[in-house]
Amino acid sequence: MTEHPEHVLPWGLLPDSAEVGPDGQLLVGGCDLADLVEEHGTPLFVYDEDQLRARCREAVAAFGDGVAYATKAFLCRAMARLVHEEGMHLDVASGGEMHVALSAGVPADRLVLHGNNKSDEELIRAREVGVGRIVVDSFDEIDRLERLHDAEASAGRDPVVPKVLLRITPGVEAHTHEFVMTGQDDSKFGFGLKVGDAARAVERASASPAVELVGLHAHIGSQVFVAGFYEQAVEALAPFVAECGLPELSIGGGIGVAYVEGEEAPSIAEWGDVVRRACDAVGITARVSAEPGRAIAAAAAVTVYRVGTIKEVPGIRTFVACDGGFIDNPRPALYGSGYETFLPRAVTAPRTETVRLVGKHCESGDVLVAEARVPEGLEVGDLIATPVTGAYGRSMGSNYNLLHRPAVVFASGGRSRLVIRRETDDDLLATDVG
Ligand SMILES: *Cc1c(COP(=O)(O)O)cnc(C)c1O
Repeated sequence: MTEHPEHVLPWGLLPDSAEVGPDGQLLVGGCDLADLVEEHGTPLFVYDEDQLRARCREAVAAFGDGVAYATKAFLCRAMARLVHEEGMHLDVASGGEMHVALSAGVPADRLVLHGNNKSDEELIRAREVGVGRIVVDSFDEIDRLERLHDAEASAGRDPVVPKVLLRITPGVEAHTHEFVMTGQDDSKFGFGLKVGDAARAVERASASPAVELVGLHAHIGSQVFVAGFYEQAVEALAPFVAECGLPELSIGGGIGVAYVEGEEAPSIAEWGDVVRRACDAVGITARVSAEPGRAIAAAAAVTVYRVGTIKEVPGIRTFVACDGGFIDNPRPALYGSGYETFLPRAVTAPRTETVRLVGKHCESGDVLVAEARVPEGLEVGDLIATPVTGAYGRSMGSNYNLLHRPAVVFASGGRSRLVIRRETDDDLLATDVG
C-alpha cells in the first residue's frame, strides 16, 4: 500500500465491493451503511457477501479439495452455508462450532474437528455424526478415543473408526504475536517433532483399532505475514512426512491480512503457491490442504458505530466514545492490534485529526483505535467505522457489562440480509435461572 500524504483511508482496506455514493458516502455490497444502520442499529457488522464467496473460491483454487475454513474466525449458520456452498470444508474447534455447522445443514463429513482438549462429549458427538476428520492433539486424546471405541465394542455395537490427522508441532517460530504463535516447541498444541512425540504418536495411532490415521497436520500460528514461514514448516516436516508416507498433510491456517496503512500480506493464491512449491521441492506427494480463517473473513467486513461523547483533554488528546467497545473487537485490548477509522458519510475525506476511539465499557483498556485518524468536523451522532473487522471480532466478543452483542448483516448487489440479530435484554436473561 502506498503512502497517503493526506491521510486518506487506504482504499484497499475496504471490502472489494466498496464504492463511493453520490454524497461521498460508502456503499458496501451496493448498500449505504447509513441505511443499514437505520434498519439494524449500531454497532453493526456489515459483510461483503460476494467477497466472502470469492475468498472461499480462491482457497479452493489454491489448495483443492479438503481446504477448510477455520470457523472460529467468524461463524453463524449463514456463514457455514456460504462456505459449504463455495466448496470448502469447515474446521470446527469445539462442540459449539460443530453444532452450529451441523445445524446449518453442513454434512458432517465436511467437518474437521480440532482442539487441544476435546471432551468426551465432543468426541462422542463427532464419532456419532461422522465428522470427516478429527485432528488428534495429544496422547490423552488417543486414550479417550480408544475408550469410546472399546465401550462401543463391548456394548455389542460396531464401533465407529474416525479418520484422524495428528497435529505435529514442527518447531518453527513464525514471527507473530506470542499468543497466536503455535508452531514452536514450547506450545500447548500437538505432538512435538523434535522430542520424538510425533513419531510415537504415529506409531500408536497406526496400531490403534480406534482410529484410521490418514495424515499429519501443522498450524504454525495466526496473522503470519511472511509466506516463507510455511516453507520453513514444510521443510521441517518433510523428512517425517516422507517417513510416515501418509496420504494427507494439512499446513493449517494463519496467513495474515493487512489491517492498517502500510501493511501488506500475501493473497491466498500466493500462499498456496508457496506451499505447493515448498512441498514439490522436498518431494511431498501427500494431498496438501490448509485452513484459512482470517484470510477468508477479516477484510470482508466493516464495523459501524455511533459516536456518543467527545471529550477533549487540552494538550493531551481527544477521546471519541462510541456505542460498542472491546466486546465486539477484543483484538486491540488482547494483542495491541491497530485499526484504521473512517466516517461512512465521507469515506474519502482526508483524515487530518487524530483521536482515541474508545468504547463504553467500565475500564480504560476499552480502546478500539488508539490513534484514530478522522476528518475535521466529527460530531456526536456521527457514524464512525473500522475496516477489516470480519475475523476474531464478533466471534471473540463477550457480554461484558451486559451490553448486547451486535447484529451482523450480509450485503450483496444492493440487497442486505440480517444473519445475526442484535441481542436483547431477554437474551441476557436466557441462561439466568436464578
Ligand atoms: C486458528 C486456527 C486456524 C485459522 O487461523 P487463521 O489465522 O484465522 O487463518 C487454522 N487452523 C487451526 C488449527 C487454528 O487453530
